[in-house]
Parts: sequence; structure tokens; C-alpha cells
Amino acid sequence: MLRPYSPRLLLLLPTVTYRTVAFVETARRLGVDVTVASERPSTFERANPTGLVTLDFADPAHAAAQARAFAYAHPLHGIVAVDDDTSVVAAAIAQELGLRGNSVAAAAAARDKHQQRQLLAAAGVAVPRFELRTIAADPERLAHGAYYPCVLKPLRLSASRGVVRADDPPGFVAAFRRIKAILEQPELAECGEWARHVLVEEFVPGREVAVEGLVTRGSLQVLALFDKPDPLDGPFFEETIYVTPSRLARTAQQEIVACAQAAVRALGLREGPIHAEVRHNERGAWLIELAARPIGGRCSGALRFESGETGNGRRDTSLEELIIRHALGMELPTLEREHQASGVMMIPVPGAGVLREVRGVDAAQAVPLVEEVVITMHHGQMLVPWPEGSRYPGFIFARGETSEAVEAALRAAHARLEFLTEPAD
Ligand code: ADP
Repeated sequence: MLRPYSPRLLLLLPTVTYRTVAFVETARRLGVDVTVASERPSTFERANPTGLVTLDFADPAHAAAQARAFAYAHPLHGIVAVDDDTSVVAAAIAQELGLRGNSVAAAAAARDKHQQRQLLAAAGVAVPRFELRTIAADPERLAHGAYYPCVLKPLRLSASRGVVRADDPPGFVAAFRRIKAILEQPELAECGEWARHVLVEEFVPGREVAVEGLVTRGSLQVLALFDKPDPLDGPFFEETIYVTPSRLARTAQQEIVACAQAAVRALGLREGPIHAEVRHNERGAWLIELAARPIGGRCSGALRFESGETGNGRRDTSLEELIIRHALGMELPTLEREHQASGVMMIPVPGAGVLREVRGVDAAQAVPLVEEVVITMHHGQMLVPWPEGSRYPGFIFARGETSEAVEAALRAAHARLEFLTEPAD
């Protein structure tokens, strides 16, 4: 019997992660065939030639040619990238195969913090003053001419890794040397020209929100505004709590959304998910960073949308489902978030060391409104604080009537956790 037509989605994954499972399971439920593309050949590839493919993520043009060869035998109908690195490869493949996606130029501009700043500033989007510096420069001299407070950051790392605030010249010199040491680690030093630069920009005070959105033909639909209730004043910028809906005033929210839409336009992004950090103060909304990808890793679990209908009634729609449907041009259910308030805490790194034990998980899980406490780091793994680190030991999820109640539940659950660590050798 002929199988009914199923579209095929190409999913770009740097490594097999929790994300893979969420996307693959969602796709299966939607009757979509999935091919997972990764950088390294998998031993399963021969056993499952339509389900897995190896692409050269380091060279988007080459990856696009490889994807074309694959698509001769197994036509592809949509493509999804889940992180910053693969977003440019996805754009190259989408362009090559005529799939829904961004231009390579737009994805590349979103990927690079300096290019992004240049395009946004030229388009009149509010961004901090910025200057590009090489890591070969003398930090003492640079510190002399900098404005304070300022933020120093690498051009292409993510999760606030290597982002440091400096309040005075000694702080500048220390931050510069610290970032330089990160960029000189072998796995980064060989990544290209970008790893030999640091962006120095004015520190923008104010409340910060994360904007989660979906872009269709250049138009931004906001899926959620997350407040970040803990002050992010530095010197390092490890995230903690995200709660939605936002408690900012309506006009502030409108300014934030307008700022994110202006950034999407300035970068030339046309299709797919975006995640932006926007600050708001008495001078309005400021674009700190916009990425052409969805919210990172586990945090997507904080988002649920009004139901898609199924045979046996209503069910919630995940962010992964919206992204897959959008990529394939399938009908989108409503993009309205569920009625409940929702939040996630990225559990702070309790200090440097080797993780030995996490106590209190059951007690944290028992806090009313808390839905899940996930410890993602394993015993024996190294905990590395920011700015060198970029991995949280786990996540706490809560839902409730109000954002206040959700925030309080996340804090109460966190207070019940105890991390036992040992110094590293
Ligand atoms: P990444 O992409 O690694 O997350 P960002 O550029 O988004 O790096 O910076 C991470 C965080 O650092 C931001 O979410 C914000 O809290 C803070 N930050 C970065 N640049 C500035 C700035 N110019 N002013 C104020 N805060 C900043």
C-alpha cells in the first residue's frame, strides 16, 4: 500500500542533546519524517540512511552542496536549526534548496555581535555605543580611552560566556585579559578571525527581558516576553529566572516589541524563530542581542501554546511544534501562549568545583507550583562559573496563576537545593 505523503524535515544538531529528542518526538507525532544532520559521521548512518546525514557545519556552502546531494534521493521540505552555529548552515541549505529560511547574509549578521551592532546602528535601532578591538592590542591603552561602565564581550560565544562589565580602567584591563585567555583556548583560537577580537560597548542599565518570537515573511510575531527579575548588572551575566507574562508596563512592552521587530528588519531576517535580549530604561528599549534561533535547550519547556485540536480533544502545543510547522509551511495553530504564568530558573552555578551530590531535589520538586526540577549535570562533572563557564547545573520549572507566584515558587524550590562540590585537582 502506498504510504500517505509525509514531508521530510532536516534538523541540524551540533551534538545529540535533549533537544534532539523533543524535536524528533514532536515531528513523529505530526507525521513528519526527520533527518538529523550532524557534524560527525554516526555509526547508525548506514543502518538508517534516511534518518541521519553528516554535513560539514564548518563550511556552510559545502554543507549546502551535501544537503543537495542527499535531497536528490530524499527530498527535503523544511529545515530547522537549533543553535547559533547551525543557523548559518541552515540558511545556506534553505537558499540552496529553496526552503523556507533566512538569507545567509542575514543569518551571518545575526551570528556576529559586531556585524549585528553595525547593521542595527545603521538602521537607527537603539544599541549601545560600541568599538571593535583586537586581542593583540595593549589593554592599558585601550582602557584609557574607554567609556565607563562598559561591557567587553567575544563576538560569537553564547550564554553570556566571556561577557564582562568593567567600571574603571583596572576593571577593563582585568576583563580584557580574562576574555583573551578564553579566546586563546585551542578549540576557540582556531575558529577564525572573530576569535581574535573583543567588542567593547557601553553598559546599558535597566530591566532586561527576553523576547521569544517567530518571524514570517519578515514580520515578527511575539510568542512570549520573559521578565528577568534578578538584576543583571554584572560583572558577569549568568542568567537565573525567566518568567512570563511580563510585569512591565504595557507601553514598555510595546517599545520592546517594536525594538525587536526593528532589529529583525535591520538584520534582514525573514523566516524562523528568534530569541532576543532587550533592555528597557527611561530612554526606551535597547537591543542587546538578537539570535536567529529559539530559546536555548531545556528552557523551551517553559513555553506552551493554546491547543491544537486532536481527535481526542485539546492538547497544548510546544515551541518545537510551532517551529517545525512553520519550517514546513504547515498550518499553525494559534500562537497564543497558555493562560497560566510560567517560569524557569536556570540554576546558578554554586561555585567552581567537581559536582559530588545534589540534595533536596524531592523537597524542591514538592514546592507548590513547581512542575519539574531537572539536574542536567552529572556527578563528577566540573562546575565552571561565569564568565569562563556557560553551563547551568540544572533547571526548575513552575506554572501558576501569576508571575509573582511562579517567581516565588522558583526561589523557594531553589532554596531547598544543596550542591555538594569538591575542589578540582
Ligand atoms: P550572549 O549572546 O553570549 O548571551 P550577550 O551579548 O547577549 O551575549 O550578553 C549577555 C548578557 O550580558 C545580556 O543578556 C545582558 O544581560 C548583558 N549585556 C551584554 N551587553 C550589555 C550591554 N551593552 N549593556 C548591559 N548589559 C549587557
